[in-house]
Amino acid sequence: TCKSEGVAAAVRAAAAVVAEHRAELVELDRAIGDGDHGENLNRGFTAVVAALDAAEPDTPGGVLKLVATTLISKVGGAAGPLYGTAFLRASAKLGTTAELDVPALLDALRAGLEGVQARGKAVEGDATMVDALIPALSAAEKAAEDGGDVAAVLTAAADAADRGAESTVELVPRKGRASYLGERAVGHMDPGARSSALLLRAFAGAAR
Ligand code: ADP
Ligand code: MG
Ligand code: MG
Repeated sequence: TCKSEGVAAAVRAAAAVVAEHRAELVELDRAIGDGDHGENLNRGFTAVVAALDAAEPDTPGGVLKLVATTLISKVGGAAGPLYGTAFLRASAKLGTTAELDVPALLDALRAGLEGVQARGKAVEGDATMVDALIPALSAAEKAAEDGGDVAAVLTAAADAADRGAESTVELVPRKGRASYLGERAVGHMDPGARSSALLLRAFAGAAR
């Protein structure tokens, strides 16, 4: 299980990973989009860390809500509202629960994915972050059934998200800016799928 301090530490770890991979995400988005994905996310997560420094909420849901509202206000483009909605739905699902255990984690992951799909209308195979998140959720559910703890569940999710992000290389994008390129986008990994996999990897690392 994971209390609010643990969730805040995981979010700080995610911010560090986003900063480390800023240039890579910019490059991926430059190939098939407008080249701002790394900057967008880094700006957002830098603001998230500043908000946590100013006042750290005392529940996991409170931490995720702060992430959501900060990302929504600081990150423009497609990814800001999508990630913002994911964290907002996850936070609403957790309510005021004091500890994030495996069932609560699965609820939060499900709610986050539902938020992304409600907002962006992408399905699996459209070459978006959804192609990382759907297999991540399935793998998380399987790991939980096998008795995995929070760290094991998140590690399984991150592994599946890596493979899901890799799968977008072969896909023709059907949502977002990359869809304007059609077939010409084949051969490139979707930047949002890559960032989703990075976020899950950071959360998994922090849970260990
Ligand atoms: P923008 O395209 O507005 O510049 P970003 O570059 O920050 O925004 O984010 C692009 C990423 O957002 C894409 O790589 C993709 O994963 C994701 N994305 C875009 N549109 C959608 C959508 N409708 N549903 C899910 N994800 C989407
Ligand atoms: Mg972009
Ligand atoms: Mg943009």
